[in-house]
Amino acid sequence: MSVQVFGLPVSRGVAIGRAVLVASSRVDVAHYFIAADQVEAEVTRLHLARDVVSVEIETLKNELPDDAPHELAALLDVHQMLLHDEESLTKPTREWIEERHYNAEWALSAQLEVLARQFDEMEDEYLRERKADVEQVVERVLRALSRGNGAQHDPALSARDFAGEDPLVLVAEDISPADMLQFKRSIFTGFITDVGGRTSHTAIVARSLDIPAVVGAREASRLIRQDDWLIIDGDAGLVIVDPSPIVLEEYRFRQRQGQLERERLTRLRHKAAVTLDGQRVELLANIELPEDTAAALEAGAEGVGLFRSEFLFMNRDGHPPDEEEQFVAYRAAVQAMRGLPVTIRTVDIGADKPMDRSSANEMRHENMLNPALGRRAIRWSLSEPAMFRAQLRAILRAAALGPVKLLVPMLSHISEIRATFDCLNRAREQLRQSGTPHGEVTVGAMIEIPAAVLILPVFLRYFDFVSIGTNDLIQYALAIDRTDESVAHLYDPWHPAVLHLIESTIEQANSAGKAVCVCGEMAGDPEFTELLLGMGLRSFSMHPAQFLPVKQRILRADTSRLAAHVEAVMSSDEPRLASLARSSPALRREMAA
Ligand code: PEP
Ligand code: MG
Repeated sequence: MSVQVFGLPVSRGVAIGRAVLVASSRVDVAHYFIAADQVEAEVTRLHLARDVVSVEIETLKNELPDDAPHELAALLDVHQMLLHDEESLTKPTREWIEERHYNAEWALSAQLEVLARQFDEMEDEYLRERKADVEQVVERVLRALSRGNGAQHDPALSARDFAGEDPLVLVAEDISPADMLQFKRSIFTGFITDVGGRTSHTAIVARSLDIPAVVGAREASRLIRQDDWLIIDGDAGLVIVDPSPIVLEEYRFRQRQGQLERERLTRLRHKAAVTLDGQRVELLANIELPEDTAAALEAGAEGVGLFRSEFLFMNRDGHPPDEEEQFVAYRAAVQAMRGLPVTIRTVDIGADKPMDRSSANEMRHENMLNPALGRRAIRWSLSEPAMFRAQLRAILRAAALGPVKLLVPMLSHISEIRATFDCLNRAREQLRQSGTPHGEVTVGAMIEIPAAVLILPVFLRYFDFVSIGTNDLIQYALAIDRTDESVAHLYDPWHPAVLHLIESTIEQANSAGKAVCVCGEMAGDPEFTELLLGMGLRSFSMHPAQFLPVKQRILRADTSRLAAHVEAVMSSDEPRLASLARSSPALRREMAA
């Protein structure tokens, strides 16, 4: 029976494919296809790992102390039995490998999801609780597989190499931003998560992949089963499970239309972003990793407007990258951009971007019921000065190789501004004393907290430029946790207060002759292009995938005629409707009435 699940739209377009359910704790399990001639070796790898675990369990049992409760030995027997359960575990896992060409880890976790669902539906409480045992057994085999490794992973193989294979959609309760990153070159054609808001960092990374995604779909991972056919309507935030043939056909049609529209837009790729009245607009790229510069250049970016350096710090088992490793990463980005400016934002760790799973748990305990208001971004950097200076030195060293701008996130206090410059001066002095080559940087502040807008003249005195982080500015202005889907309906970029904060920042920066950019998600949303242009913005930073629709709006805009539009939107109680009315005479008449 077909079911519809509603969530929040993250990334536009339509995806159609089979569900791959992944438990949040196992999202980092490798998912890749193996070539046909590797199937046998992969099955052997699976069997070897199973044998290793079997010996492990047997050893554990033999080494149990004499006074151990006898239930423990019985439990280990149950684990041994589950491990060798041909019908439920071994055979179906083998089939995922043989028939679908999944790698062993993926095959195993796919089968685990199937079993977990069966256990959840059992009436008998005792049997239901055996789910935890199956999970433990599978975790052991997964660990044995990763220790034994030996996998023949050819990263070049993707779903497209398996013409006969169905496209795949990833479904998980939650995916961390770092885990999302590993899907950058993945086999999935769409993503669905139960939790998350439109501008949660998971959603931002999903959007950068430019494939349809829905977050905050609450019940999705419970309702959807492994292998179900799914449609993701990324524009509406809708997921259709097990669609009827008619609905499927309708969406296939929309998918083709979307594809044609994208192809049409690619013609704009090499066009300069200039408005009808000759205003040049700078389009910069938001990146997470140095290798994203390739997509930035391909899209025609004039530089990097936001390098979210915290992604270098994630999933490192508590060992953040040292100065040298960071320098190598920043140098790679600077060199790849061939003389175009690279804006490196100092680490914005915390909130929904924990360094790794253990620090996520730590954060939960460290009074951080709402980590968005806690020790995040510059607050974290200033509380770890040695680490902060190491990052600043790495950035200054990269600046010897090309134009680098330094961007500081989440500032609100003047004392933080001073402390930041103190750290920067000390980092520079350390490099000078050690005779390490380094360059100069221009320094900018992210405007993400309403307090910063209210004391903007101070910021403009200290900084060379400002960059408006609308994702956080909205979160902090409206007191809405941007990752919490239960208040997502209140997260409103069209809120008049938000628009006034943005307008005021642009106006003050322009009057002071300081550069101003928007690097939050609003910059990449074509709905806002005219409004931001009308407010005087000439520098937009967004994921390269968002360039063309925004550029199309820029090319059609006449800034000399936008003042009335800004006035209409800013004076309206319904700014979004007032904005839409611009292109809809009927709506304009209705609003006037
Ligand atoms: C923002 O807050 O708008 C921003 C660009 O920073 P981030 O999304 O990484 O918090
Ligand atoms: Mg931010």
